[in-house]
Amino acid sequence: MIFVITGPSGCGKSTMVRMIQEKIDNVRFSVSHTTREKRESEEEGKDYYYVSKPEFEQMIKEEKLAEWVFLHDNYYGTSKKEINEEGTRGDLLLDIDVYGAQQIKPRLEKALFIFILPPLFKDLKTRLEERGQVSVDTINKRLEVARREILAYPQFDYIVINDSLDRAVQELEAIILSERCRLDSRKKEIEPILQSFLGEE
Ligand code: ADP
Ligand code: 5GP
Repeated sequence: MIFVITGPSGCGKSTMVRMIQEKIDNVRFSVSHTTREKRESEEEGKDYYYVSKPEFEQMIKEEKLAEWVFLHDNYYGTSKKEINEEGTRGDLLLDIDVYGAQQIKPRLEKALFIFILPPLFKDLKTRLEERGQVSVDTINKRLEVARREILAYPQFDYIVINDSLDRAVQELEAIILSERCRLDSRKKEIEPILQSFLGEE
Protein backbone atom coordinates (compact mmCIF):
# COMPACT_ATOMS: atom_id res chain seq x y z
CA MET A 1 0.00 0.00 0.00
CA ILE A 2 1.11 3.53 -0.70
CA PHE A 3 0.62 6.18 2.00
CA VAL A 4 0.97 9.79 0.92
CA ILE A 5 1.85 12.01 3.87
CA THR A 6 1.20 15.67 3.17
CA GLY A 7 0.58 18.99 4.90
CA PRO A 8 2.12 22.46 5.13
CA SER A 9 5.87 22.89 5.44
CA GLY A 10 6.85 22.56 9.11
CA CYS A 11 3.81 20.50 10.17
CA GLY A 12 6.11 17.57 11.02
CA LYS A 13 5.93 15.25 7.99
CA SER A 14 9.58 14.29 7.76
CA THR A 15 9.95 13.93 11.54
CA MET A 16 6.94 11.60 11.67
CA VAL A 17 8.02 9.57 8.65
CA ARG A 18 11.46 9.08 10.18
CA MET A 19 9.91 7.89 13.47
CA ILE A 20 7.51 5.52 11.72
CA GLN A 21 10.38 3.86 9.87
CA GLU A 22 12.01 3.09 13.21
CA LYS A 23 8.76 1.83 14.74
CA ILE A 24 7.41 -0.54 12.12
CA ASP A 25 8.95 -3.06 9.75
CA ASN A 26 8.48 -3.25 6.02
CA VAL A 27 7.96 0.43 5.33
CA ARG A 28 10.00 2.07 2.65
CA PHE A 29 10.45 5.80 2.14
CA SER A 30 9.95 7.14 -1.37
CA VAL A 31 13.15 8.99 -2.24
CA SER A 32 12.33 12.13 -4.22
CA HIS A 33 14.51 14.02 -6.66
CA THR A 34 15.37 17.59 -5.77
CA THR A 35 17.53 20.43 -7.03
CA ARG A 36 18.04 21.90 -3.56
CA GLU A 37 21.40 21.64 -1.82
CA LYS A 38 22.06 18.58 0.29
CA ARG A 39 21.96 19.38 4.04
CA GLU A 40 24.81 18.13 6.21
CA SER A 41 22.65 15.55 7.97
CA GLU A 42 21.37 14.11 4.68
CA GLU A 43 22.51 11.30 2.42
CA GLU A 44 22.29 10.96 -1.36
CA GLY A 45 19.85 8.19 -2.25
CA LYS A 46 18.46 7.99 1.27
CA ASP A 47 16.90 11.42 1.83
CA TYR A 48 16.83 12.62 -1.78
CA TYR A 49 18.48 12.15 -5.15
CA TYR A 50 20.21 15.50 -5.67
CA VAL A 51 20.21 16.64 -9.28
CA SER A 52 20.87 19.87 -11.20
CA LYS A 53 18.05 22.01 -12.58
CA PRO A 54 18.79 20.97 -16.21
CA GLU A 55 18.78 17.31 -15.13
CA PHE A 56 15.43 17.76 -13.40
CA GLU A 57 13.99 19.59 -16.42
CA GLN A 58 15.14 16.70 -18.60
CA MET A 59 13.23 14.29 -16.33
CA ILE A 60 10.09 16.43 -16.74
CA LYS A 61 10.53 16.40 -20.53
CA GLU A 62 10.98 12.64 -20.62
CA GLU A 63 7.88 12.22 -18.41
CA LYS A 64 9.85 10.34 -15.78
CA LEU A 65 8.03 12.01 -12.87
CA ALA A 66 4.72 11.00 -11.33
CA GLU A 67 4.39 14.49 -9.85
CA TRP A 68 6.64 17.47 -9.35
CA VAL A 69 6.57 20.96 -7.97
CA PHE A 70 8.69 24.11 -8.05
CA LEU A 71 8.84 24.97 -4.38
CA HIS A 72 10.98 27.46 -2.47
CA ASP A 73 13.06 28.15 -5.65
CA ASN A 74 13.79 24.46 -6.24
CA TYR A 75 12.27 21.49 -7.98
CA TYR A 76 11.02 18.47 -6.02
CA GLY A 77 9.47 15.40 -7.60
CA THR A 78 8.60 11.72 -7.24
CA SER A 79 9.86 9.54 -10.07
CA LYS A 80 7.49 7.02 -11.62
CA LYS A 81 10.19 4.41 -10.97
CA GLU A 82 10.00 5.07 -7.22
CA ILE A 83 6.29 4.32 -6.98
CA ASN A 84 6.33 1.46 -9.50
CA GLU A 85 8.67 -0.53 -7.28
CA GLU A 86 5.97 -0.59 -4.60
CA GLY A 87 4.42 -3.92 -3.75
CA THR A 88 7.59 -5.93 -3.77
CA ARG A 89 8.91 -4.49 -0.52
CA GLY A 90 6.04 -3.70 1.87
CA ASP A 91 4.45 -0.29 2.32
CA LEU A 92 5.69 2.86 0.69
CA LEU A 93 5.54 6.30 2.35
CA LEU A 94 5.64 9.50 0.32
CA ASP A 95 6.42 12.81 2.06
CA ILE A 96 5.32 15.44 -0.43
CA ASP A 97 3.82 18.92 -0.43
CA VAL A 98 0.08 19.54 -0.75
CA TYR A 99 0.15 20.49 -4.42
CA GLY A 100 2.15 17.34 -5.26
CA ALA A 101 -0.35 15.21 -3.33
CA GLN A 102 -3.21 16.74 -5.29
CA GLN A 103 -1.36 16.04 -8.54
CA ILE A 104 -0.58 12.41 -7.77
CA LYS A 105 -4.05 11.55 -6.42
CA PRO A 106 -5.69 10.53 -9.73
CA ARG A 107 -2.63 8.40 -10.56
CA LEU A 108 -2.72 6.49 -7.26
CA GLU A 109 -6.31 5.42 -6.86
CA LYS A 110 -5.61 2.85 -4.17
CA ALA A 111 -3.23 4.98 -2.09
CA LEU A 112 -4.24 6.52 1.22
CA PHE A 113 -3.73 10.24 1.71
CA ILE A 114 -2.90 11.51 5.18
CA PHE A 115 -2.99 15.20 5.95
CA ILE A 116 -0.89 16.42 8.87
CA LEU A 117 -2.03 19.54 10.69
CA PRO A 118 -0.22 21.52 13.36
CA PRO A 119 -2.38 22.26 16.43
CA LEU A 120 -2.59 25.98 15.60
CA PHE A 121 -1.13 28.49 13.14
CA LYS A 122 1.10 29.94 15.85
CA ASP A 123 2.59 26.49 16.52
CA LEU A 124 3.49 26.11 12.86
CA LYS A 125 5.21 29.52 13.01
CA THR A 126 7.19 28.53 16.11
CA ARG A 127 8.23 25.20 14.56
CA LEU A 128 9.40 26.83 11.36
CA GLU A 129 11.35 29.42 13.38
CA GLU A 130 12.90 26.80 15.63
CA ARG A 131 13.85 24.51 12.75
CA GLY A 132 16.12 27.33 11.54
CA GLN A 133 17.98 27.00 8.23
CA VAL A 134 15.98 29.71 6.46
CA SER A 135 15.37 33.47 6.66
CA VAL A 136 12.41 35.24 8.31
CA ASP A 137 11.24 36.20 4.83
CA THR A 138 11.17 32.55 3.72
CA ILE A 139 9.31 31.53 6.88
CA ASN A 140 6.69 34.22 6.24
CA LYS A 141 6.26 32.99 2.66
CA ARG A 142 5.78 29.40 3.88
CA LEU A 143 3.22 30.58 6.43
CA GLU A 144 1.26 32.42 3.74
CA VAL A 145 1.32 29.29 1.55
CA ALA A 146 0.20 27.24 4.60
CA ARG A 147 -2.90 29.45 5.05
CA ARG A 148 -3.96 28.36 1.56
CA GLU A 149 -2.79 24.73 1.80
CA ILE A 150 -4.80 23.81 4.89
CA LEU A 151 -8.03 24.57 3.03
CA ALA A 152 -7.34 21.42 0.97
CA TYR A 153 -7.87 19.12 3.99
CA PRO A 154 -11.26 17.71 2.85
CA GLN A 155 -9.57 16.14 -0.20
CA PHE A 156 -7.65 13.64 1.94
CA ASP A 157 -8.58 10.37 3.68
CA TYR A 158 -7.14 10.90 7.14
CA ILE A 159 -6.29 13.92 9.29
CA VAL A 160 -3.56 13.64 11.92
CA ILE A 161 -3.12 16.59 14.27
CA ASN A 162 0.52 16.78 15.24
CA ASP A 163 0.25 18.25 18.74
CA SER A 164 2.10 15.73 20.87
CA LEU A 165 4.58 14.13 18.47
CA ASP A 166 4.39 10.67 20.07
CA ARG A 167 0.61 10.62 19.94
CA ALA A 168 0.56 11.82 16.34
CA VAL A 169 3.05 9.12 15.31
CA GLN A 170 0.90 6.57 17.13
CA GLU A 171 -2.07 7.64 15.01
CA LEU A 172 -0.04 7.36 11.82
CA GLU A 173 1.12 3.90 12.90
CA ALA A 174 -2.51 2.89 13.60
CA ILE A 175 -3.55 3.95 10.09
CA ILE A 176 -0.77 1.91 8.49
CA LEU A 177 -1.28 -1.17 10.68
CA SER A 178 -5.06 -1.23 10.29
CA GLU A 179 -4.62 -1.04 6.52
CA ARG A 180 -2.44 -4.17 6.72
CA CYS A 181 -5.36 -6.06 8.31
CA ARG A 182 -7.69 -5.46 5.38
CA LEU A 183 -8.96 -8.49 3.50
CA ASP A 184 -7.06 -7.57 0.33
CA SER A 185 -3.77 -7.09 2.17
CA ARG A 186 -4.13 -10.38 4.04
CA LYS A 187 -4.69 -12.66 1.03
CA LYS A 188 -1.14 -14.03 0.97
CA GLU A 189 -1.14 -14.77 4.70
CA ILE A 190 -4.57 -16.38 4.69
CA GLU A 191 -3.65 -18.97 2.06
CA PRO A 192 -1.33 -21.17 4.21
CA ILE A 193 -3.75 -20.91 7.14
CA LEU A 194 -6.60 -22.12 4.96
CA GLN A 195 -4.44 -24.91 3.55
CA SER A 196 -3.58 -26.08 7.06
CA PHE A 197 -7.29 -26.36 7.85
CA LEU A 198 -8.14 -28.10 4.62
CA GLY A 199 -5.22 -30.46 4.42
CA GLU A 200 -4.92 -31.86 7.95
CA GLU A 201 -7.13 -34.31 9.85
P1 ADP B 1 7.96 19.10 7.53
O1 ADP B 1 8.71 17.88 7.09
O2 ADP B 1 6.47 18.91 7.48
O3 ADP B 1 8.37 20.35 6.82
P2 ADP B 1 9.50 18.80 10.01
O4 ADP B 1 9.36 17.34 10.28
O5 ADP B 1 10.80 19.28 9.46
O6 ADP B 1 8.29 19.33 9.08
O7 ADP B 1 9.15 19.57 11.37
C1 ADP B 1 9.32 20.97 11.50
C2 ADP B 1 9.93 21.28 12.87
O8 ADP B 1 8.97 21.04 13.90
C3 ADP B 1 11.16 20.42 13.20
O9 ADP B 1 12.12 21.23 13.84
C4 ADP B 1 10.60 19.36 14.13
O10 ADP B 1 11.57 18.90 15.04
C5 ADP B 1 9.48 20.11 14.86
N1 ADP B 1 8.33 19.29 15.28
C6 ADP B 1 7.73 18.31 14.57
N2 ADP B 1 6.67 17.81 15.27
C7 ADP B 1 6.63 18.49 16.43
C8 ADP B 1 5.76 18.44 17.58
N3 ADP B 1 4.74 17.59 17.66
N4 ADP B 1 6.01 19.30 18.59
C9 ADP B 1 7.02 20.18 18.51
N5 ADP B 1 7.88 20.28 17.48
C10 ADP B 1 7.70 19.46 16.44
P1 5GP C 1 12.72 20.05 2.35
O1 5GP C 1 13.47 20.98 1.43
O2 5GP C 1 12.49 20.67 3.72
O3 5GP C 1 13.33 18.68 2.42
O4 5GP C 1 11.27 19.84 1.73
C1 5GP C 1 10.46 20.91 1.43
C2 5GP C 1 9.07 20.43 1.05
O5 5GP C 1 9.15 19.67 -0.15
C3 5GP C 1 8.40 19.53 2.09
O6 5GP C 1 7.08 20.02 2.32
C4 5GP C 1 8.34 18.19 1.43
O7 5GP C 1 7.19 17.48 1.81
C5 5GP C 1 8.27 18.57 -0.04
N1 5GP C 1 8.74 17.52 -0.93
C6 5GP C 1 9.77 16.68 -0.79
N2 5GP C 1 9.85 15.83 -1.81
C7 5GP C 1 8.82 16.12 -2.63
C8 5GP C 1 8.35 15.57 -3.88
O8 5GP C 1 8.91 14.63 -4.44
N3 5GP C 1 7.26 16.15 -4.42
C9 5GP C 1 6.62 17.19 -3.85
N4 5GP C 1 5.54 17.65 -4.46
N5 5GP C 1 7.01 17.74 -2.70
C10 5GP C 1 8.10 17.20 -2.09
